[in-house]
Amino acid sequence: MDAQKPQISADNVQEIYDETVHWHVNLGDETIHAKRMPGRFRKLKWFSASLWLIFFIGPYLRWGGQQAILFDIPDRQFHLFAITVHPQDVWMLSLVLILMAMILFGVTAIAGRVFCGYFCFQTIWTDVFTLIEEKIEGPPAQRRKLEKAPLSLVKARKKLLKHSLWLAIAVLTGMTFAAYFTDAFQLWRDVFTLNAHIIAYIVLLMFTLGTYFLAGYLREQVCFWLCPYARIQGVMYDKDTLLPTYDVERGEPRGKLKADNKELGDCIDCRMCVAVCPTGVDIRNGQQEGCITCGLCIDACDSIMDKVGRNKGLIRYASLREMAGEVVKSPLKRPRVLVYAAIMLFAFGGILYGLTNIAPIDWHILHQRQPLYTVMSDGSVQNRYTFKILNKTEQAMQVRISTAGVEGLEVSGIDELMTLKADKLVPFNVDVRARPAQLPHEHTPITFVLKDINHPDRVFTRESVIIRPPR
Ligand code: SF4
Ligand code: SF4
Repeated sequence: MDAQKPQISADNVQEIYDETVHWHVNLGDETIHAKRMPGRFRKLKWFSASLWLIFFIGPYLRWGGQQAILFDIPDRQFHLFAITVHPQDVWMLSLVLILMAMILFGVTAIAGRVFCGYFCFQTIWTDVFTLIEEKIEGPPAQRRKLEKAPLSLVKARKKLLKHSLWLAIAVLTGMTFAAYFTDAFQLWRDVFTLNAHIIAYIVLLMFTLGTYFLAGYLREQVCFWLCPYARIQGVMYDKDTLLPTYDVERGEPRGKLKADNKELGDCIDCRMCVAVCPTGVDIRNGQQEGCITCGLCIDACDSIMDKVGRNKGLIRYASLREMAGEVVKSPLKRPRVLVYAAIMLFAFGGILYGLTNIAPIDWHILHQRQPLYTVMSDGSVQNRYTFKILNKTEQAMQVRISTAGVEGLEVSGIDELMTLKADKLVPFNVDVRARPAQLPHEHTPITFVLKDINHPDRVFTRESVIIRPPR
């Protein structure tokens, strides 16, 4: 015991017991009013929450005179600064989803639901909503008192202010989300002059109400009953996963702090760890589905241990292996973490390759099936091809299309020089005619060559066949 620390008697601690004595495991039958305490995990939570500011700033960033991040649904494009992704590049989206899933799996295998505790929009928004609630209605005890109090002017004023601020945040969240799909500044003008598209109003309404009810009312109930991640997290844990864990060995038997009781463990049963828990979990009962791994109970217990002059860490991030006194494994020696990391690297490499190698055009050539060929009156054979060319750049492109592989083919349907408009898909038919003697096989391979005349390095080819009747 630290001699420098003030010794706390049973009387001193009574204050803490009084504050938290009514706490019990949350079964969803009451509103959780979690106590707020400073600490290192609280700081970490604020830091990770602040990353969400990027979400609010994102739609207003500009790049090359345009919105830097834009999901342009009408034109079926996604703009990310200098990069434009078309539906043809959608394979990268699959890799992005795989990457995100692997990050989530990997992080969960190493440190449980830290995503929920520190970054999930539900828990972050709930945290901000309850902070507003605390600033207006006071700490948990006062809030509970206010809830039970009859309607009065003071109560009505506080409730009105709280709900107005909640709604303002909900509207801002909805507007921000919608702004990723259209010009952000124009959206604000259109919404407030009632000129926005009906879809914009629907999205805005859905997100506003969703945010307001999920963060304001449902709160931890979403983590308990709605979140699918809570259901599957168990399969990602193992004996080496670091989770906020109560050190039973050290803490039990728990009991109120009494100077004369030498038999008790370090837990003074103050229930402060439960009082600060945003989901109402009593971590001393072991790992539970409702625990979002936020570490706030660690901050709370550390501060109590500090006050009573005992070592911190009665609740700490620890693995089952550590608690069992076994040798703790490094995450890099765990096969499942290595597998997740390998898939992550593969997905990340694929995305990087895709982003740095997006072709300026996307083109497809389809040989017409009916008829496969037409024998012309002069005995020549004509094949028809359907071209679809998409210029994926931001500028018009002048191209020349030619054939290779068979000498002396007559090509019609293509101008000597074609202009492909920026971001436009051009479909057209091309006829290729040959004398049967030019075609050594019934199916003779030919190559279509497309050259960008302003960028000699941009040469694209497509293989096809030219078909003639059997001899
Ligand atoms: S674990 Fe810590 S915070 Fe929780 S009741 Fe025991 S002493 Fe109090
Ligand atoms: S038990 Fe602790 S870590 Fe889990 S949700 Fe509650 S406060 Fe957060």
